[in-house]
Amino acid sequence: MANGVAEIRRGLKAGKFSSVEITQDYLARIALHNPALNCFISVTDEIALAQARQADAALARGESAALTGVPLAHKDLFCTDGVKTSCASRILDNFIAPYDATVIENFKRDGAVMLGKTNMDEFAMGSSNENSYYGCVANPWNTEYVPGGSSGGSAAAVAAGLALGASGTDTGGSIRQPAALCGITGIKPTYGRVSRYGMIAFGSSLDQGGPFARSAEDCALLLQTMSGFDPRDSTSAEQAVPDYGAALGQGIEGLKIGLPQEYFADGLDAGIGAVIENAIEELQKLGAVIVDISLPNTGLSIPTYYVVAMAECSSNLSRFDGVRFGHRCDNPTDLEDLYKRSRGEGFGAEVKRRIMIGSYALSKGYYDAYYLKAQQLRRLIKQDFQQAFDSVDLILGPTTPETAFKIGAKTDDPVSMYLQDIYTISLNLAGLPGMSLPVGFCDGLPVGMQLIGNYFNESGLLNAAHCYQQVSDWHQQIPEAFR
Ligand code: GLN
Repeated sequence: MANGVAEIRRGLKAGKFSSVEITQDYLARIALHNPALNCFISVTDEIALAQARQADAALARGESAALTGVPLAHKDLFCTDGVKTSCASRILDNFIAPYDATVIENFKRDGAVMLGKTNMDEFAMGSSNENSYYGCVANPWNTEYVPGGSSGGSAAAVAAGLALGASGTDTGGSIRQPAALCGITGIKPTYGRVSRYGMIAFGSSLDQGGPFARSAEDCALLLQTMSGFDPRDSTSAEQAVPDYGAALGQGIEGLKIGLPQEYFADGLDAGIGAVIENAIEELQKLGAVIVDISLPNTGLSIPTYYVVAMAECSSNLSRFDGVRFGHRCDNPTDLEDLYKRSRGEGFGAEVKRRIMIGSYALSKGYYDAYYLKAQQLRRLIKQDFQQAFDSVDLILGPTTPETAFKIGAKTDDPVSMYLQDIYTISLNLAGLPGMSLPVGFCDGLPVGMQLIGNYFNESGLLNAAHCYQQVSDWHQQIPEAFR
């Protein structure tokens, strides 16, 4: 089966197959494989087929938009008009969104077909997709292993060929880390590039939407649709969106790539280090110039993130009170009982842990010591990157310190789970774009390499990744059970 967005678009335009045919193929694959992977919370067959019929009619009229007829999946935290949008939480298990998120609206505008809504960690809190009310997702490379999180359903769906591409969100690594663990490509754009309107909030100053696909070329296509200024999101960037496709294939001759010493220090699995070294050599053969750099405040990024993210989530999640929408407990005795039991029953353990820590960090007397301090450290982390970008064009490192781990291996150890994001989280604190692309395997499990760009340099990231993918085929590997 063709597995690239670009290839499918060409086939659709040339009339080799119809959108209804490929949509039916994908729906059949989902029906066959989703029971083992659990990457979809909702499969929207009827919507998908109706959109595919519309796409075929448009193609027949010679009117094709950027993604006409292309079957995709969306993380279940993007509001979708008339469709359940659960955030993988019991508290939103009965929530049918009354409107479309801007990202969803953009995909509709460009003619894409929605196959369904993907599983995730509850409210995007997690690194393994084990924190979902709907159960964990399995990694297609080995179903005893986690796919990463929080956008684990989207990543697993693309890796297993149950969707051509998928949307995700990244607050501390949730696009890049699952892309790495599932052996696919994913990009988290600059904060403000993709609208957050209708994307259920976790940490508002960190959250950013972005795409998953097999290749950088496909990510460029999907990011083009997702990006752009949106007056409904007050932090949306009023910046023109470049033509990401046109930026590909410019070559990387003379491109200066920085290797932060802190990303190759203790804590990095030796096997991953060796795989990354090989990828660096390939980039050098393509003309890239490697420069050693330092991001001295890297070690502060996890504690800083877990104050900021928890503070922001405790505030964002206060709207789930059992009154306006979502789960409500049975027979409340009074208002307080209603709040307590609705929230107590509706939220899972990790979400509760974070709301409590966040409320504590924001409380009078502790605000200065924790939240304000974290904001100050955030500035230092950002300055590290700004200094580095004075001398390099891109920064490179591993996406994760280890490959996928076994389901259950870290559930009792939240701190070890939090350490999964050591290389990804600082970008969210700084608002910078980053992407992960597959560069090899360790013991049969995929390894991801992270590229980091300066603000709004998504084109530079996509171009470098595309150049690498022109001379490698890791991004085309498909797990045996799903070929
Ligand atoms: N793993 C991180 C967390 O648990 C990041 C999650 C994300 O990016 N949504 O918060």
